[in-house]
Amino acid sequence: MRKYVIMGVQGSGKGTQSQLLASDLDLVHISVGDIFRWNVQHHTKMGAQVRRIMAEGNLVGDEMAESVVRDRLTEHDWNYGFIIDGFPRNRRQALFFLESYDIDGVIHLDMPDSEVRRRVLARRLCASCGMDYNLLASSPHEAGKCDACGGQLTTREDDNEQALAVRLKDYHEKTNPVLELFRGKEYVITVDARPDANTVQQEIRYKLGLPPLQEKPAEKEKPAEN
Ligand SMILES: [Zn+2]
Repeated sequence: MRKYVIMGVQGSGKGTQSQLLASDLDLVHISVGDIFRWNVQHHTKMGAQVRRIMAEGNLVGDEMAESVVRDRLTEHDWNYGFIIDGFPRNRRQALFFLESYDIDGVIHLDMPDSEVRRRVLARRLCASCGMDYNLLASSPHEAGKCDACGGQLTTREDDNEQALAVRLKDYHEKTNPVLELFRGKEYVITVDARPDANTVQQEIRYKLGLPPLQEKPAEKEKPAEN
């Protein structure tokens, strides 16, 4: 059983790296952000709360985040372990997590703010089908139009300089204490998140003492990551 936490600022490739690790180790990838997004899309009561909090540019509160994690982990569908992404985001959540679950490692994807800014501001979203694009990785065939459905590409409302500066500041203020706490327990491995996804993945595995990812035949990289 392997239990990992993955941490990194938005745009550092947490989702991609979690999936690469989860898929061949049979880990369950738990993305707290995805759970919230699912609730927003399905108009649940929690979704309405989340939508309001995010529209104000804030992060979801500790109690809500903790209960989502608790509920998800009590499903016990993770026979080989899990990798959790988007939690814990602050010291209180980290203490809750350490009391409730023993973990094997914390993967810290390290990316300078300047690089985060460059990547996040290049993100686009199809207004019709919701497909993600990153203009740095691959442009759509026709500028401003979705390859899949022809819909208009838009920017997420919170992907602008100002909102991003607030999120970065908030991220560092809250997660630095979490990293300190985990480092005190010698759980943390830090990996440079700037290289391509495959290189980052191999480095994670090397540092966790896992076998390398088997090279797959050339596959076009996903255009966007989160
Ligand atoms: Zn589309």
